[in-house]
Amino acid sequence: MKEPTLGNPQNTIEVLQKYNFSFQKKFGQNFLIDTHVLDKIIQSANITEDDMVLEIGPGIGTMTQYLAQAAGKVIAVEIDKNLIPILEDTLSGYDNVRVINEDVLKLDLKKIADEENNGKPVKVVANLPYYITTPIIMGLFENEVPVESITVMVQKEVADRMQTGPGNKDYGALSLAVQYYADPYIVANVPPNCFMPRPKVGSAVIRLTCHQEKPVQVQDEKLMFNIIRASFNQRRKTLANGLKNAATLDFTKEEVEAAIDALGKGASVRGETLTLEEFARLSDLLSPYKKG
Ligand code: SAM
Repeated sequence: MKEPTLGNPQNTIEVLQKYNFSFQKKFGQNFLIDTHVLDKIIQSANITEDDMVLEIGPGIGTMTQYLAQAAGKVIAVEIDKNLIPILEDTLSGYDNVRVINEDVLKLDLKKIADEENNGKPVKVVANLPYYITTPIIMGLFENEVPVESITVMVQKEVADRMQTGPGNKDYGALSLAVQYYADPYIVANVPPNCFMPRPKVGSAVIRLTCHQEKPVQVQDEKLMFNIIRASFNQRRKTLANGLKNAATLDFTKEEVEAAIDALGKGASVRGETLTLEEFARLSDLLSPYKKG
């Protein structure tokens, strides 16, 4: 298998000039130009020849070359049609890569993983387009795509939100959602000068190792996440007020107050202090009162 040729500024500029490529801001295009960061991502994703990797947004194929070298198979989904001829060129030495020219949010990734990897869990590795980080990650979880781990470059602030717990200012619905499905670990912080063009924000590589078994048992997952979202929608309000006023929930004041009391919390408790276990219990306490 060919050694990667991309990953440094000179070769990236050469490819971009050869194809007269112009970056499209709307697609969150910030290409990696640092081989150390690329090595770190590949190493922390723990890829072997037995793995099928799903890459979201291959760009000009920089990380794809590294992935193709380490994995058995790579499926790379790229929305920008102008990148397709470039990818054909930069990936010509690799026979284990399939490029799909599509919007990843419109693809049935479960079907692709099932067909291409016989339903075996895949590893997702990507330098994500930041404008759709949350829908991509939540889509993988909620659509039950068979995934073993997700190792991705995201905005630093988003990585912090995914990893943090109760009592921290970054704690919120995203922290709880990610931690319900996976165990997050921040692998590295990555400064803007590792990309072309430089993003305005700091970045971080985070690895989410998917749970084999959920860390909490809850009767109604959908209700739990509605409760979580309602609790954080109105951060400055008490949990009771957040839940009573939520448009997506229809519990009475008495039902909400009784459930919070049964949880062993005072009337003034705020949602941001509750753990995942406590949200699961609260959801189970309220579930019998769900209308409709
Ligand atoms: N992997 C490359 C690298 O590291 O140099 C490029 C990463 S760049 C941050 C994000 C990539 O995602 C771009 O190539 C962009 O065109 C692509 N992209 C943006 N939105 C997408 C979508 N909805 N579906 C698939 N790819 C998308």
